[in-house]
Amino acid sequence: MSSVRTIGVLTSGGDAPGMNAAIRSVVRTGLYYGFKVLGIRKGFNGLINGDIEELTARSVGDIIHRGGTILQTARSPQFKTEEGLKKAMSMAKVFGIDALVVIGGDGSYRGARDISKLGLNVIGIPGTIDNDIGCTDYTIGFDTAMNTVQDAIDKIRDTAYSHERCSVLEVMGRHAGYIAVNVSISGGAEAVVLPEKPFDMDTDVIKPIIEGRNRGKKHYLVIVAEGGEGKAIEIAKEITEKTGIEARATILGHIQRGGSPTVYDRVMASQMGAKAVEVLMENKRNRVIVFKDNQIGDMDLEEALQVKKTISEDLIQLSKILAL
Ligand code: ADP
Repeated sequence: MSSVRTIGVLTSGGDAPGMNAAIRSVVRTGLYYGFKVLGIRKGFNGLINGDIEELTARSVGDIIHRGGTILQTARSPQFKTEEGLKKAMSMAKVFGIDALVVIGGDGSYRGARDISKLGLNVIGIPGTIDNDIGCTDYTIGFDTAMNTVQDAIDKIRDTAYSHERCSVLEVMGRHAGYIAVNVSISGGAEAVVLPEKPFDMDTDVIKPIIEGRNRGKKHYLVIVAEGGEGKAIEIAKEITEKTGIEARATILGHIQRGGSPTVYDRVMASQMGAKAVEVLMENKRNRVIVFKDNQIGDMDLEEALQVKKTISEDLIQLSKILAL
């Protein structure tokens, strides 16, 4: 029997498709096992302000297919202060919250860690389109975001072919190139620019384009992980100047965050949400839900924050080979 009676759930940081499926799963699995579940609106701000209401099986009906988050999300500078944390902790007591489920990225995990130090039991669920949380191989929203990018690539490819152009597509990932490297393979890119790797314009971008043209290519695709406003525009300009091929930049932006989650994201989110409740059933404290070795598991929050992950060199290499 769990010592937890009431679970609070919130979404924090950047939104990601599939967060609703995770909320729904926490609520319904929680109710199934006899917990009371409270929804906290607008991330940690909602906990500070007491913007909280009880969720029923019906309040999470008709949301599994919707992108974004019904609980809304926020970045909360106040939560980074001692005063903010204390306010949040006292509000958790007012509402009788025994455990807090935080769906978000690693920033949100750090916030969760901070309030756990005041005595609140927290469980993290990885939700970010960037897939950049070290402790887990997968984060909710990643698959949907990649498929949104792929859809855009397929459309751009049609027009690029017709005009023999080079398309330079800027995708999300300021610090992590997981989306970029994967779509460079699925979209057949000539070159990919990643935040993790130093790149040389001439050898990494211009050379594969020129060589491709000499082998008879009719259009070209360069993927750029955002890494600074307008980087794709600069790269496109340089490609045109150096190769004579007309290059056009497209910045996908927030389109990548939205949309109906893929089956994969819905199933992952459902499993991770359920696992968060199971962890509480086992009376565990301060854990994060992870996907490792093709299995949903859990690990200590503090340890999880120390884990770093690196982008796969094999994927980068494969992307280069297949650009032949
Ligand atoms: P994400 O969770 O997507 O990485 P953020 O980095 O914006 O998004 O984090 C979301 C919220 O988590 C922040 O607004 C803040 O309230 C809290 N947070 C972020 N970083 C820290 C930190 N280092 N220490 C404490 N709280 C943090």
